[in-house]
Amino acid sequence: MTTKATQSNEPVGRFLGWLGLRHARGGAPDRGEAPPDRARAARYELAASITSFLVDNDLDVSPANLLLAHGAFSGRNPRLARQIVAQAQTPEGISQTWLNELDQQERNQPDHVEIDRLMTRLETNIEAFQANTKEARSVTSDYGTELEQHVVDLEQLQKTGRIVSSLADLAKVMLDRTRKAEDDMRKSEDEAKALRRSLDRAKRDAELDYLTGLPNRRAFEVLLDRHYKEARASVEPLSIAFCDIDEFKKVNDLHGHEAGDRVIKAIADTLARISNDHCHVARHGGEEFVMLFRGLTPTQAAQKLDDAREALADRRLINRKTDEPFGQITFSGGVADVFGYADTRAALKAADDALYRAKAGGRNRVEIADPA
Ligand code: GH3
Ligand code: MG
Ligand code: MG
Repeated sequence: MTTKATQSNEPVGRFLGWLGLRHARGGAPDRGEAPPDRARAARYELAASITSFLVDNDLDVSPANLLLAHGAFSGRNPRLARQIVAQAQTPEGISQTWLNELDQQERNQPDHVEIDRLMTRLETNIEAFQANTKEARSVTSDYGTELEQHVVDLEQLQKTGRIVSSLADLAKVMLDRTRKAEDDMRKSEDEAKALRRSLDRAKRDAELDYLTGLPNRRAFEVLLDRHYKEARASVEPLSIAFCDIDEFKKVNDLHGHEAGDRVIKAIADTLARISNDHCHVARHGGEEFVMLFRGLTPTQAAQKLDDAREALADRRLINRKTDEPFGQITFSGGVADVFGYADTRAALKAADDALYRAKAGGRNRVEIADPA
């Protein structure tokens, strides 16, 4: 593949455009006709954004860089995207050294793919163990029943001689041992059941955010996929929203990280209050939340979110450790129509763009993305 660094004098060129911070120039590399459908066009655009990002910033085309760029440009990891934009606007800009540090940070996040892989392996092993012990117990039990019959037969023949009598004693010992083995296997089965329960609990924990008790980003992605398929099949509206606490760094700076955590928890509670079977809230990471509104148009979803925003803005939170007021705590939100975009990733990115507009427009507001 040959790619020319056409914008090397513009180090943050295309990807700032992609994030809506300024107009993108250049677009996809010129390879003839425009792609025929939206999904293909989106893939084309994604590949072009990644290429421009690497080439314009003179970065290596390494697996780590490609993975980071994919996370940021596909909309899968808006937080990463925003970190890249913020760095691009500093005098140092994006360098390979900075990207390596970012890569390290990302690697410290829990690796959900690895957790999933381990869980699946554990689950398969437990199932195999359960099946094996059950089968072994059933075979042993049949064997025990047969042996029992032999003991009875032999006891009836005991009178006929010493050999038969010692055979009967031997059979009794074997029977005792068989029953003991059966017992041990039953215990193993119970242990396998307990293991299964622990695994189910671990699975639930892996989907929960420890601070807020809300589902985490991983769980949200599963929910989003499910509701996307269901809502599409039943032709129901589906909206998605990103929320981000305003000026949250100041809360941490003024009151400390621990107090910051309590504010995150309070806002999680506010958002959780509007959640139900059709409205799901998850902590996307840091002080960002993501929401899914099944059966609601973007306007209806934005209204619901705006009511929560207003209720929070009217409250005055107090730091209960020091009794100091936190002052007004607000959040901004961006809402998008999931079916207005090529796929869920593109819709998430649109909601994130709308959130960015809400921030740029003065914060403490909710904006709706326009698919056009
Ligand atoms: P903006 O209105 O633009 O969103 O301003 P902001 O200050 O909120 O800016 P930004 O979103 O970039 O900063 C978020 C800060 O949140 C940075 C980070 O230190 C802090 N943060 C992220 N996760 C946590 C957490 O779990 N607990 C606490 N206390 N702080 C966190
Ligand atoms: Mg943030
Ligand atoms: Mg913030």
